[in-house]
Amino acid sequence: MDTLLALLWHDTRLLGIDWNTWKVIGWVGNVTFFSRFIVQWYATEKRKQVVVPVSFWWLSLAGTFLLLSYALFYRSDSVFIFAYAFSWIPYARNLVIHRRHARAHVGCSGCGTECPPPANYCFHCGARLPAGPRTPAETPD
Ligand SMILES: [Zn+2]
Repeated sequence: MDTLLALLWHDTRLLGIDWNTWKVIGWVGNVTFFSRFIVQWYATEKRKQVVVPVSFWWLSLAGTFLLLSYALFYRSDSVFIFAYAFSWIPYARNLVIHRRHARAHVGCSGCGTECPPPANYCFHCGARLPAGPRTPAETPD
């Protein structure tokens, strides 16, 4: 028990880290960014196929902004800043695409199932779906 405690707390520091607000922001960013892999792995194992859930992109975006803040305002390290300066762009774009795709779904009047574009018939009950803008590109934001 003393050995474990010594690993966690020594030289008056938790895990040997000199904690301050920016260290907390940086570590929260690290944990957030890493947690996306756990979320994606869980979703993939659950469906038994490779899945990238929308929460993966939200965690990527949040982790990137936290780590970019840490890099910009605390470390002022150009390599670290460049690593996170542009990676948020595809994450944000994937969230926009996901939103457009989700909004293009149509509810079946027969059974209430949300059917993805470009289906003309409900994949659950076979009822004809209403016509209208059905592709994600036709659906306004
Ligand atoms: Zn239906």
